[in-house]
Amino acid sequence: ETDQVPHAHPRILALANQKGGVGKTTTAINLGTALAAIGERVLIVDLDPQGNASTGLGIDRRNRSCSTYDVLIGEAPLREAVVSTAVPRLHIAPSTMDLSGLELELGTTAGRAFKLRDAIGALNNNVSPESDYTYVLIDCPPSLNLLTVNAMAASDAILVPLQCEFFALEGLSQLLQTVEQVRSTLNPNLSIHGIVLTMFDSRNNLSNQVVADVRQFMGEKVYKTMIPRNVRISEAPSYGKPVLVYDLKCVGSEAYLRLATEVIQRERELRVTH
Ligand code: ADP
Ligand code: MG
Repeated sequence: ETDQVPHAHPRILALANQKGGVGKTTTAINLGTALAAIGERVLIVDLDPQGNASTGLGIDRRNRSCSTYDVLIGEAPLREAVVSTAVPRLHIAPSTMDLSGLELELGTTAGRAFKLRDAIGALNNNVSPESDYTYVLIDCPPSLNLLTVNAMAASDAILVPLQCEFFALEGLSQLLQTVEQVRSTLNPNLSIHGIVLTMFDSRNNLSNQVVADVRQFMGEKVYKTMIPRNVRISEAPSYGKPVLVYDLKCVGSEAYLRLATEVIQRERELRVTH
């Protein structure tokens, strides 16, 4: 007999957009922090060889002796790569440059697209409340390569950060096409969780026009919360801190807290309708 609550699966969300510099990593770090701040147990999986999410959370090289590379290549369970951060309930599996060689190393091996899915699947099997995550956020690299395909194959849904700039919509259809492909081949349950508009500047007419276009094109999929362009957000990573730790009161922190509330709200609605 046991009073152990059965281990629920974590919700697995990938931050994806093949464009670089649109706010994927910033959103992984700060949405993760905001979710942890309101009580969720969050694991960030750094799937970008650049390792910006790891650096931005203050994980130095010495703490990356076991990384997502070791996990995907099959040499370590995900649990072994996980390190805690300065934020309670927020953990990260860091990455190193090794990860950039993964595609070549895995070659055409069977199941190479499911390495991350299987690693996450094995995560909550051991009885350790510490690692019993409610959210896994995957920070993808800026391309639609095997790493991003692994993230999509492992995820319940995709969260797309979209920068409020002129070419914002251009790459979106290609991304949606890839999601569709993954849905029809690797992961029939994959959905688009939402699109988050980043680096919004209300004084900029172009920013406002992009917002109008994206909302018209994607409708309800676009979160109400927009992340403003905010200098505190861009300063925080050089201190190895999420903006919510660096400056809780700034507009950037407030926006990420609102986004977290909206993400959780959307999760509730999904649970009701399914
Ligand atoms: P990606 O992971 O998509 O490549 P990043 O999250 O690394 O993009 O963001 C790219 C750059 O823009 C980083 O230097 C980051 O600090 C900055 N940045 C991201 N979001 C904001 C924002 N809302 N306001 C100001 N700077 C931002
Ligand atoms: Mg990034």
